[in-house]
Amino acid sequence: MQLPPALLTSLQGLNGFDTMAFIAAHVQSTPVTSVRLNPLKPAELSADWEMSQVPWCADGRYLSSRPFFTHDPFLHAGAYYVQEASSMFVQYILSQLFEKDAAINILDLCAAPGGKSTLLAGYFQQALLVANEVIRSRVPMLTENLIKWGTPHSIVTNNDPAHFGHLPGFFDLMLVDAPCSGSGLFRKDPTVVEDWNEDQVELCARRQHRILEDVLPALREGGILLYATCSFSPEEDEHITRWLIQDMGMEAVAINIPNDWGIVETECPGSFRFFPHLLQGEGFYISVLRKKNSTAFSSGRDITLEKISRQDEQLFRAQFGLDAAQSLFMQAGTVRLLPEQHVQSLSQLAACLYIRRAGIELGELKGRDLIPSHEWAMLAGKKEGWPIIPVDIDQALAYLGRQVLELPLEKGWNLISYHNSILGWVKKAGNRLNNYYPSDWRIRRLHAG
Ligand code: SAM
Repeated sequence: MQLPPALLTSLQGLNGFDTMAFIAAHVQSTPVTSVRLNPLKPAELSADWEMSQVPWCADGRYLSSRPFFTHDPFLHAGAYYVQEASSMFVQYILSQLFEKDAAINILDLCAAPGGKSTLLAGYFQQALLVANEVIRSRVPMLTENLIKWGTPHSIVTNNDPAHFGHLPGFFDLMLVDAPCSGSGLFRKDPTVVEDWNEDQVELCARRQHRILEDVLPALREGGILLYATCSFSPEEDEHITRWLIQDMGMEAVAINIPNDWGIVETECPGSFRFFPHLLQGEGFYISVLRKKNSTAFSSGRDITLEKISRQDEQLFRAQFGLDAAQSLFMQAGTVRLLPEQHVQSLSQLAACLYIRRAGIELGELKGRDLIPSHEWAMLAGKKEGWPIIPVDIDQALAYLGRQVLELPLEKGWNLISYHNSILGWVKKAGNRLNNYYPSDWRIRRLHAG
């Protein structure tokens, strides 16, 4: 790999930068493989995996080699997310600033494919998470990953950052993991090097300014902004943070980190850089800022959610064992669940955003038949009310490939489970066994290699 000389020149003088060590990390060492475990779906992962702790993330694990993840049913069950280790630092920042049960409104503005959204959804159990992705074709991937993660308190939207201007002061925490020139990913994906140039850096920096300017009004006074990139370039990193502090009413928040982690505190307060020659991880930058100037939330319009009939509500509540803390509503003929404390927020958000998914789909009624949804099968927690059928690895992969299975099942709906991790539904009707795994998600390559 030939690193762009203009990049190397632009990094001279940055805290922690060392030209020779930086080049060596790119040409002599391989990218690190890491996963973040789902705290809500504990699983005994493969005994073949040699794992070690990511220092800055309680749920993060390094793997000594890269398995063929697609053929691991636990991945599809949402037991873990394959995530680059440096970006897991977000969890450490959260642990320094927030209680896990904080009932706050969170926006992950640039969310697809969902690495940091799943982290946020796993950390905060009582919060409302709005996971937004502006590029429409990337929304399904984000939705799939959040469904597999199995939490009921997220909303997926497909909006331009400017649309959040209609929600002044709505959010307590905002993550802007901005689109960037991507130099931090050179080692993982050497093709990124070919597209890198100084004009690209400048263009990205302009876009980052615009995105932040558009979305900041939606952060409340005292709210926290996490601004992140996977670029090493100061133009996209410190320069943006400095502008946020000098011109945009933000102040730096101090985060204490142990020296031996190898994370560099930049010259700009409240901001951190990850160099691959100093730690096990790829390039990453993040700054932690608090909003000083006042933006109080002013509630504008809201939209009344479509109600479910009393009779259907009783049926769903009994079948899914729901309590009053869970609210039910209708959307496009399906019944959905959202924790009661977020219903008003959803109504407010629905008035100005394109909501792609809210809460968890429970299912739908066809005549008097209740068709349970895959989203509910993926929801973390105990599953009661339906038979659970354990399967081995071959059956699990055949199920995930949407193949025809032969299993001794009870008539009707059955949940398929691989080592206590739920994979989804099958239905036995007469002698037929129908595989209800979502066809868009099926494993297409059932044989490795
Ligand atoms: N946060 C994600 C994660 O952890 O998995 C990765 C986000 S990626 C670095 C940046 C995202 O910003 C991409 O999904 C991209 O589609 C989106 N994006 C691109 N242009 C954008 C814009 N003008 N405004 C907001 N988001 C944009």
